[in-house]
Amino acid sequence: MRLSRLLPAPLLILIAAAPPARETLRPEARGQTEPMRHEGDCADDPAIWLHPTRPERSLILGTDKQGGVVVYDLAGKPLSTVSPRSRPDNVDIVYGFRRRDGSVVDLAVASCRGHPRGVLVWTIDPATRTLDDVTAGGAIAAREPYGLGVYRSRKTGLSYAIVTAYSGRVEQFVLEETADGRIGGRKVRELKLNGITEGCVADEELGRLYVAEEAVGIWRFDAEPDGPKEGKLVARVGENGLRGDVEGLAIYGARDGRGYLIASSQSAGTFKVYERGGDNAFVATIDPRSGAIDDVSDTDGIAVTNRPTSPAYPKGLFVVQDGSTPAGRQNFKIYGWEDVAADKLIVDIDWDPRP
Ligand code: CA
Ligand code: CA
Ligand code: CA
Ligand code: CA
Repeated sequence: MRLSRLLPAPLLILIAAAPPARETLRPEARGQTEPMRHEGDCADDPAIWLHPTRPERSLILGTDKQGGVVVYDLAGKPLSTVSPRSRPDNVDIVYGFRRRDGSVVDLAVASCRGHPRGVLVWTIDPATRTLDDVTAGGAIAAREPYGLGVYRSRKTGLSYAIVTAYSGRVEQFVLEETADGRIGGRKVRELKLNGITEGCVADEELGRLYVAEEAVGIWRFDAEPDGPKEGKLVARVGENGLRGDVEGLAIYGARDGRGYLIASSQSAGTFKVYERGGDNAFVATIDPRSGAIDDVSDTDGIAVTNRPTSPAYPKGLFVVQDGSTPAGRQNFKIYGWEDVAADKLIVDIDWDPRP
């Protein structure tokens, strides 16, 4: 029976206008990284690197906008800092970059605004867990490096760095090995949004690129460089509690194209969860709370994996920049994915992000 037969008209309008009831998930952090070495706003964006054979030796990379890329173990202990004057903003991981000799290597890629300025590329050595700067010519010449995400095409096997900017310019570079074994970037596409864009993530399996226009929402593009240049606004600031700045974006992958797109809703200190497939329907809000470890605020970049890592994180982990801590210096908080999911979201440890 139609509702209109049962309810007076004013009540019907109220029901139609009310937002759908959605879950709010309230995880407590299980771990955190040591406070940043610099004071003030410096931690920005994390990445998770999965060790190919020994998951407990996986790494968290975190950018220090006043320093370099900090390499942490899963307990949050800093192991090293690379390119300490490069002032990286965002960092991401390319799995299985194919070299000219046929071997494959994992890469860390970051957008940097210091010395050098541009996009930097490091190889990650699984034996030593160290990063080695292999950028050809010092840096890939992004015009206005700000945010960054990578995309490895399952169609062509090519890897890309996608760089966002204050101006809304989005540049896509194909990563190529030079004759002397270093890695450079050749620009293959430019997209344009109207306002400040930073957060950026590609869904490699579905060939989708998401870009956060900080005050507007999340745009979805075809990630292939020859794809249409028009994006679709799939999440708007003001809808489902999404608040600006829309900051970090991350993909939680699961089998059969399932999983989530997660966005940092900075001024709310929360994270919005959307379906990974289809039209990115809104699913839930993650609003962490303080427990043994303090809560997050002014959240910036995020990273997530579905894969088991150390015994502390047997069902994946979610890493979040925290804008302030009791110690007075910023850091990254680490959540067990099953604490985030709380029987409401998918927990799938089998989907493999490696090609
Ligand atoms: Ca990142
Ligand atoms: Ca921002
Ligand atoms: Ca905090
Ligand atoms: Ca940021």
